[in-house]
Amino acid sequence: MLPHHCILCGALCTGRDLCAGCARDLPWIRDACRRCATPLPALSLDPGECGPCLRRPPPQSATVAAFAYAFPVDRLLLKLKFGNSLPPGRVLGELLAIAVRSTAPTLECPEAIVPVPLHPKRLRERGYNQALELARPVARALRIPVLRACRRTRNTPPQSTLAGPERRRNLKDAFVAEPQVAGLHLAVVDDVYTTGNTIAAVTRALYRAGAASVVAWCVARA
Ligand SMILES: [Zn+2]
Ligand SMILES: [Zn+2]
Repeated sequence: MLPHHCILCGALCTGRDLCAGCARDLPWIRDACRRCATPLPALSLDPGECGPCLRRPPPQSATVAAFAYAFPVDRLLLKLKFGNSLPPGRVLGELLAIAVRSTAPTLECPEAIVPVPLHPKRLRERGYNQALELARPVARALRIPVLRACRRTRNTPPQSTLAGPERRRNLKDAFVAEPQVAGLHLAVVDDVYTTGNTIAAVTRALYRAGAASVVAWCVARA
């Protein structure tokens, strides 16, 4: 077996490409809104839902985000997305599985994972879908399959280049889910949850195709 090297400090380590010290120092989210994963003050054991979610809940029934979008998770995600480097995806996916297990031990595990899809044109440019690279190690750790059951039918401008209302319009009907999701309990996986518009659009597409329930699992919460 090949020795593992920590992708952050280079130290030799076992099990995964991240040493225990660097893993401990990551910006883990401890107490968060169950619905959208925004960090909440640790006032009680069960912080419940944040104000915005109580007023206007997103379509997914729960969200788990492992980390705050902060150093060094932000760098690792940029490396995965634009640096043509897959090891950060494997490590972050394994850590996301740990966060899912510890945040939702009482919830039923979804039956399959659906990665947020890229448009085929962008997939050709990048060569891989970062959400799929994150979904694979999560699926392995939780022993559930990855279903590439959602397609991006419109090549929309990157969300980061748009303002709020434009962001929502930009994604309207941008996703279509396959009939195979009908009746299934699903988890949507993505790299970063910012406004939640992308996750919401994929969730709606899955419900339109008959999904029984949808939760969201993201590596980082901006
Ligand atoms: Zn390290
Ligand atoms: Zn919330």
